[in-house]
Amino acid sequence: MLTMTEVKKIFRTDLVETHALRDFNLQVDEGEFVAVTGPSGSGKTTFLNIAGLLETFEGGKYELDGQDVSRLNDKKRSQLRNEKIGFIFQSFNLIPDLNLFDNVDVPLRYRGFKGAERKKRIEESLELVGLANRMKHLPSQLSGGQQQRVAIARALAGNPRFLLADEPTGNLDSKMALSVLELLKQINDQGTTIVMVTHDQHLATQAKRNIYVRDGRVSELSELTDINEINLHQAANG
Ligand code: ATP
Repeated sequence: MLTMTEVKKIFRTDLVETHALRDFNLQVDEGEFVAVTGPSGSGKTTFLNIAGLLETFEGGKYELDGQDVSRLNDKKRSQLRNEKIGFIFQSFNLIPDLNLFDNVDVPLRYRGFKGAERKKRIEESLELVGLANRMKHLPSQLSGGQQQRVAIARALAGNPRFLLADEPTGNLDSKMALSVLELLKQINDQGTTIVMVTHDQHLATQAKRNIYVRDGRVSELSELTDINEINLHQAANG
């Protein structure tokens, strides 16, 4: 379970202070598939980066599986991240001169898995995303959708409890986006909790729960599940 209570995040530069999250409250239970939408600059990525222990924050509390992780030092944060969290990004972030097998291997090496166990995990996760027959290919030899599948395999190889996805279909055409979403649903059905930030409201409505973020908070619009209702509410309230 992932619980944020009144989390505040301020970015400070010489001239400006940006309140990216203002009293952000959210609980994500085991097995959920939550889609997070909201206007540009509303704090979605900031939330996801804090949830993924990539970013620290100023005020409030964040608990991960019952452990208060609000004020961990860098080393503990990165240990916990490696143990519990898989991340996927819009830009796939694959290493261009490594083949698929070696790309998926990178975080496993980092986490200290040994040879045979690593090989098994790589093969199983590439199998899961339907690319077991392309292990020796380079990322550039794949379509965008296939590259995102490799990124998903890499995120899942360490068997994380949580998969956090930041615009995972943002660089894909609608057909590929749908197939990546189907894969995420399948992964969620197998027990991984997923939180996905997306601009695509159609994709968002296919998740089990929708969260709408506005001005650094979870908005009351999150209670509305129907996309038409959300549009009507937005039109009425600006
Ligand atoms: P988008 O949908 O456009 O990706 P978002 O909802 O994900 O936006 P965030 O990226 O979380 O929004 O940004 C929230 C606010 O914090 C924005 O005003 C942004 O400019 C600001 N911000 C984010 N990262 C930084 C940073 N490293 N330094 C300063 N300001 C930042």
